[in-house]
Amino acid sequence: MAMLEVKNLAVNYGVINAVKGVSFKINEGEIVSLIGANGAGKTTILKTISGLLKPVSGTVTYEGKEIQKQNAPKIVAAGISQVPEGRHIFPGMTVRENLQMGAFLQNDRTAIAGSFETVYSRFPVLKERINQDAATLSGGEQQMLAMGRALMSRPKLLLLDEPSMGLAPIFINEIFEIVKAIKDQGTTVLLIEQNAKKALSIADRGYVLASGEVKLTGTGEELLANENVQKAYLGG
Ligand code: ATP
Repeated sequence: MAMLEVKNLAVNYGVINAVKGVSFKINEGEIVSLIGANGAGKTTILKTISGLLKPVSGTVTYEGKEIQKQNAPKIVAAGISQVPEGRHIFPGMTVRENLQMGAFLQNDRTAIAGSFETVYSRFPVLKERINQDAATLSGGEQQMLAMGRALMSRPKLLLLDEPSMGLAPIFINEIFEIVKAIKDQGTTVLLIEQNAKKALSIADRGYVLASGEVKLTGTGEELLANENVQKAYLGG
């Protein structure tokens, strides 16, 4: 059984059909990447999985249960955590306070302390800046903070929306290395990226979206080698 299965998902904004009958699945332990141009519907799919948007039809099944009607906190509690596009960290709060917000559903102090340790070992730079206002971090550090905050809820499935967006090349490589390491530590990842080349190079499988529909699927390697994908998304 897949960890997450999206079936015939359709999502509208008023009269705009942003997602038109999309189906895909994620197995436990995988990095699955959704790639596609601006407006293809990637962010809409992510927000629907995390409960921020409700579909007009279709299902999202997580660990055997339909979740498309559940609210966002319940979905976080079930083990799905999203890192939104543009990070959305709390700029006037410190690094530590931002991370604390990620543990908002947890009461167990020992577990929270353990989550802090896990995040600090994954992102040593955050530990160095623990009392610094988040607004003073660089773009790459802010992305790490947003990822760290999502990891504070100890997700089984991490949803990443454009983690490399707007980052300097050196940080882009680092972020993709971190995504791989998060997977290696046992967290399943759904990765949305404009940087299709990087995303497919670390993905087990990928889906190519265009105009709200899945056009193509395959392993990361297969999609990287696909002529149409190269022409449309890899600048080849
Ligand atoms: P991007 O990389 O630009 O975020 P995307 O693949 O994530 O692109 P979505 O953001 O999911 O695409 O957008 C899918 C479609 O829905 C687009 O046509 C977009 O203009 C439209 N859309 C997105 N958000 C809204 C909104 N709040 N109201 C109306 N239309 C929207």
